[in-house]
Amino acid sequence: KQANLTKQVSTKFETQTISPRVQMIEMCLRRTLEQRDFQQFLVYYQPIVDLRSGKIIAAESLLRWQHPELGMVSPTELIPLAEYTGLILPIGDWVLKNACKQIKLWQNAGFPELRVAVNLSSHQLVQPDFSEKIMKFLLVNDLLPNCLELELTENIIMQDVNSATSTMKEVHSFGVKIAIDDFGAGYSALMYLKQLPIDTLKIDRYFIQDIANDSQKAAITTALIEMGRNLKIQTVAEGVETEQELDFLRGYKCDAMQGFLFSRPLSAAEFEKILFANKRLNV
Ligand code: C2E
Ligand code: MG
Ligand code: MG
Repeated sequence: KQANLTKQVSTKFETQTISPRVQMIEMCLRRTLEQRDFQQFLVYYQPIVDLRSGKIIAAESLLRWQHPELGMVSPTELIPLAEYTGLILPIGDWVLKNACKQIKLWQNAGFPELRVAVNLSSHQLVQPDFSEKIMKFLLVNDLLPNCLELELTENIIMQDVNSATSTMKEVHSFGVKIAIDDFGAGYSALMYLKQLPIDTLKIDRYFIQDIANDSQKAAITTALIEMGRNLKIQTVAEGVETEQELDFLRGYKCDAMQGFLFSRPLSAAEFEKILFANKRLNV
């Protein structure tokens, strides 16, 4: 399975010419991974806010790579390369390990309910020992499984539906939460919503942008919110940037929002500050 996936990803890369910048990034990435505890890597956290109470209920962990010469390398550049080179496995483990450590620190600081979401790559999901790994990270940090949520895109699930389904069912049976990320932007096979143990549906930013003035986006999003309510799946609107978008989502009773309007992704220290300051959306 792993070989098959690697082939799919490499074919994607082979059809494009690999630019000198990508080659440079790959070289730097390999060096970074040789350093102890991947010193140039950071995890940022973006708040997810409940629309009824206005409170921060969760944080999405987002990888950042601060390279001395390349500057801040975006995950949209880094992740595909990491997948192509197979380096996503050590990177993915590093993010999971750090996110779990951070959840414990925030619990100890007085925020026991905060959930942290971690993005996964398809390569991680097909590892035979993936479920045990997740359990290990939770146990080592003495965490209840329901404070961790794993975010998967539809495309990740599609790459190996059977393997994704059984792994998701296994980790979900321990109590770990599952979110479908960027919903609506991929294959959107509604069959998953029935077959997979899904707790959260994250509606892709594309549908949210300018939603109040676009009747088609509005129709799709309101249908997703309604569907989420009937299936008891929490809906989170991604990429909320304006008050107008927020008002629309509130009006149609979307459960939660994430976006620059409330906060950009923050370093762990900055995130902690807004927790202590009790920052919330006005309701
Ligand atoms: P994602 O999981 O959908 O994460 C949300 C992305 O949207 C983040 O980009 C975030 O900064 C951005 N965003 C949030 N609110 C807004 C907004 O209001 N407006 C706009 N324009 N953008 C907003 P980021 O951090 O650049 O990450 C991009 C993607 O890289 C993520 O999309 C995720 O697919 C991937 N990624 C990031 N960290 C990891 C990781 O640790 N592991 C894996 N496998 N993938 C990751
Ligand atoms: Mg995500
Ligand atoms: Mg997303």
